[in-house]
Amino acid sequence: MSDSGAHLLEGKPIADEIRTAVAEDVATFTATHGRPPGLAVVIVGRDAPSTVYLEQILRGCARVGIHAEFVHLEGEATERSVCATLAKLNADPSVDGVIVQMPLPPTIRLREVIDAIDPAKDIDGIHPLNAGLLRLGYDGFLPATAHAAVEILRRSGIEIAGRDAVVIGRSAVVGMPAAFLLVKEDATVTVCHSRTRDLADHVRRADIVIVAAGRPGLVTGAMLKPGAVVVDVGINLVDGHIVGDVDFASAVGVASAITPVPGGVGPLTNALLLTHLIRAAERQAAARRMAAEPSTQVEPTVTARGDR
Ligand code: NAD
Repeated sequence: MSDSGAHLLEGKPIADEIRTAVAEDVATFTATHGRPPGLAVVIVGRDAPSTVYLEQILRGCARVGIHAEFVHLEGEATERSVCATLAKLNADPSVDGVIVQMPLPPTIRLREVIDAIDPAKDIDGIHPLNAGLLRLGYDGFLPATAHAAVEILRRSGIEIAGRDAVVIGRSAVVGMPAAFLLVKEDATVTVCHSRTRDLADHVRRADIVIVAAGRPGLVTGAMLKPGAVVVDVGINLVDGHIVGDVDFASAVGVASAITPVPGGVGPLTNALLLTHLIRAAERQAAARRMAAEPSTQVEPTVTARGDR
């Protein structure tokens, strides 16, 4: 509970719980298959953006026993060299998951690179196959940030079904997948974006607001319905401090629950990515055994409990 009344939806305790379950799943997988699950993070080009976020992922993997490493494409990386690297990683049975650092250099087409990732290893859900599965309500890999934005509600016991939700932001990696996840949870969802005419009017009617616009202070307390639940996905650097898209000081007095930035969605994103990886590893191991012994019904050896 914050001083002003709203319940603070903190990501770290939930992330710790998830990591403990993942560590057990990783130990079982490693004992069964004689190797740990593996993650490759592709860093494109010599002018690659900061790797701070990705280093956090690598550290998170190490903590639970996952083998994770950067694959650096030095020099002037080309579309062809990125796709060739992805083809190698796709074919490598010790690599269960692949992440490509974004944004890519402007000379490389995003769509070509995304299409080159094996959907079975696409643990951050960016391949069109996984996006399509989500759209249809089937079980694919989810973009980890959108997953975290909705999972923090579910694990905090916030009722979603039947409630009016507004998602601000319609990107393929955050806003849209978060909206589809809320629909899957039976919310009534409005997606707002940069061309929305009266954002405040939509936000005022929402029981749940997920904000993923990359605009500090976009949502204020005055725009919120009293008692609304607010999930702030935004990460913005303002005067040397990380802030979200919500004006926390004014929102905390109106909302019934709110995620802090930092410390809300961020920690959960990284933990959920680990659950996606162990799931990818189990599914591929099961598929390989099926291929080797087609007459045998093979169940995954481990249930990814962190991903419930
Ligand atoms: P993006 O720039 O791709 O998309 C931003 C979206 O916000 C667009 O759909 C745009 O239409 C909308 N938007 C912009 N200005 C708006 C306005 N004034 N009113 C209404 N809508 C507006 O960004 P993204 O990749 O979706 O990321 C969104 C935010 O989430 C960023 O701050 C990013 O840093 C953050 N992020 C957080 C995590 C995490 O783990 N917490 C991970 C990824 C991204």
